Amino acid sequence: MTPPQGMVAPGQAIGILGGGQLGRMLAVAAAQLGIDVHVLDPDPAAPAARVAARHIVAAYDDVAALAEFGEPLQIATFEFENVPVSAVEHLARCGVTVRPGAEALSVTQDRKVEKEFLGEIGVPVAPWHPVDDPASANAAQSELGGDVVLKSRRMGYDGKGQRAMASADDAAAAYEDIGSVPCVMEQKVDFIREFSVIACRGVDGATVSFDAAENRHREGILRESIVPAGIVAAAAAAGRAAAVQILDRLQYVGVLAVEFFELSDGEVLVNEMAPRVHNSGHWTLDASDLSQFEAHVRAVAGWPLPNPRRTHAARMLNLIGEEALEWRDWASRADAHVHLYGKRDVRPGRKMGHVTLLTD
Ligand code: AMP
Repeated sequence: MTPPQGMVAPGQAIGILGGGQLGRMLAVAAAQLGIDVHVLDPDPAAPAARVAARHIVAAYDDVAALAEFGEPLQIATFEFENVPVSAVEHLARCGVTVRPGAEALSVTQDRKVEKEFLGEIGVPVAPWHPVDDPASANAAQSELGGDVVLKSRRMGYDGKGQRAMASADDAAAAYEDIGSVPCVMEQKVDFIREFSVIACRGVDGATVSFDAAENRHREGILRESIVPAGIVAAAAAAGRAAAVQILDRLQYVGVLAVEFFELSDGEVLVNEMAPRVHNSGHWTLDASDLSQFEAHVRAVAGWPLPNPRRTHAARMLNLIGEEALEWRDWASRADAHVHLYGKRDVRPGRKMGHVTLLTD
């Protein structure tokens, strides 16, 4: 029986732009559903490619490679938000539907566009100003007052392209230090906690969400996610409502992650969002009856989307750089679920794997 238009049946394939650990975990989830994965990634040793049915080794802007990649596919997705929007548009011209689409990608690739979008739909963020030159860096600093964070608009992740500054620091110098690229300057938020909500929207517009996770960062990199989060119920509800509102406004299909700051007065601000499965949702592999990866594959493949239920309390620890060398110690613990990404080179700051401890 031929599956309905826009649905991927068992035995068929979906494409993934990007072949990192997120793509790898998506490919494993797809395999469980009988769906193959084709990966496009310039790295011949990409972690996802080693568990994929097909790997096109090419740059994301290589139109001939995109056409070759898309030729046997009906549906594709991406596993990181810095895939060029033009690649998604080119795949669409080749007859491949990319989920989530070009709009979600372009909104989340640029911190200024993202904050404007959130402002338009009434989702609160920290006070901010665009910064395009040394003079606007100085002006933004004096208007915001106090401590601020300067962030490049594009290509920032894991705290890269960011400078935290006190009011006495030289904003123009920080702007030049970031590379004199378009930036936003945000007020530094005095949060009591950071948390994230992972939500997913199906082709039919139905939305589901996972329990919020409490996140702890060091040097801008996520180190730990804890469920249940220690946030107040109203903060969790506000986070969930914001995530669903974003999904609906973007007519989004797939998993979206939204990161929040919880303030001492109960207010909740969005820090940023990612149009993909997210590190703070890795606990769902071991402590939920549906993982974020399966939810995303189901959504983009046009399958039904069950409401996930958390089955355990859990603590997810990232194994960063040389921490992954301790994998044998983790592997000997009965309460630890070890996930290693198969990356060949250990580098400082590189996410090599994670461990989920069931804590109930
Ligand atoms: P980001 O790449 O924007 O997610 O930032 C990485 C981390 O830096 C966040 O998870 C926070 O811990 C911290 N951070 C970023 N922006 C702010 C802010 N405006 N106020 C306080 N902390 C921030």
